[in-house]
Amino acid sequence: MYPLLEINLGKIYQNARYIVKFCESKNIDVAFVVKGFNAIPEVVNLISQSGCKYIADSRIEHIKKLVKNNINSKFMLLRIPMLSEIKDLVKYVNISLNSEIKTLIEIEKECLIQNKEHNVILMYDVGDLREGIFEDEELIQTALYIEKNLKKVKLYGIGTNVGCYGGVVPTKENIGKLEKVAIQIEEKIGRKLNIISGGATTSLTLLIKDEMPKKINNLRIGEGMILGRDLKDLWGYDIKEIHKDAFILKAQVVEVKQKPSKPIGKLFVDAFGKIPEFKDYGIRKRALLAIGKADFVFCDQLIPRLQGIKILGGSSDHLILDINDCKEDIQVGDILEFEICYGPMLYLTNSSCVRKVFV
Ligand SMILES: *Cc1c(COP(=O)(O)O)cnc(C)c1O
Repeated sequence: MYPLLEINLGKIYQNARYIVKFCESKNIDVAFVVKGFNAIPEVVNLISQSGCKYIADSRIEHIKKLVKNNINSKFMLLRIPMLSEIKDLVKYVNISLNSEIKTLIEIEKECLIQNKEHNVILMYDVGDLREGIFEDEELIQTALYIEKNLKKVKLYGIGTNVGCYGGVVPTKENIGKLEKVAIQIEEKIGRKLNIISGGATTSLTLLIKDEMPKKINNLRIGEGMILGRDLKDLWGYDIKEIHKDAFILKAQVVEVKQKPSKPIGKLFVDAFGKIPEFKDYGIRKRALLAIGKADFVFCDQLIPRLQGIKILGGSSDHLILDINDCKEDIQVGDILEFEICYGPMLYLTNSSCVRKVFV
């Protein structure tokens, strides 16, 4: 049954072990972020045995699913909690990232009802402009507020995130701001913070360069462990030990034909309201695959494994390839393989039309 997504558990485990050991050697513990593959329990179960300290996800539904699957780990919620999910938060999550006193007070109330404690990491926005408190004085005051006024909500640490919305590069200067404010908070509360979390996969670049500020003791790693593509393709830091092909997409050819490379007739908009552009390369051999944007959204983030194949585009249910320069004799019924980037991984793992096969 095709299309299918082949998930190589051995490779993922090796990736996870490598990242844990690498970070350990720099005195950093790891929260593995599993939202990128929709927290498939079989995969998370394996990752949870890699020596990482936490399993993290931005969606509480994923964490609930993992708890129900008896995954043995501490769970961290990455997205600032909604007021409407506080009950589940206290019930299922050990640690959450936060930035609003209003929300913290609601968590405290729910903790009193459930008679449970909840750990929070206060987020500091050093410039990427997604979540977090922007002014350092406000961060310090919020930390002190938790420490002094809340009983069941514990100030576990502080953290920051860069590179996700604004695309800001982690540097020893901006992550250094987190270190500086951590020192100030520790002086004021008279104890060490458990966690000072210095970012996501992109922050691995600071570890590689040995430029990570010393007090940072945690990173939240998703892509760099699962695929390792961004560090190599975008940042120019190839960690050779990381398998980039733990997820392989396999789809079936349903049509092979010679066709012109430029559509015939007056061109208007495609299925998604975009006006497409074409160059005329003459008659070319093409293959049509039974999978489409409904499954992976981004055609240009699939990487064909066969040489000489070019992705031309797709519609919701078709992927169109130029196979003119491919040495293989591709036929109807053949299965073609693709490596995938983060975007397609996110959608493919969530598509009910794509079978998941573990190897
Ligand atoms: C998604 C996310 C991460 C992990 O990002 P990767 O680039 O996949 O490592 C870390 N922290 C937060 C807050 C996130 O939302």
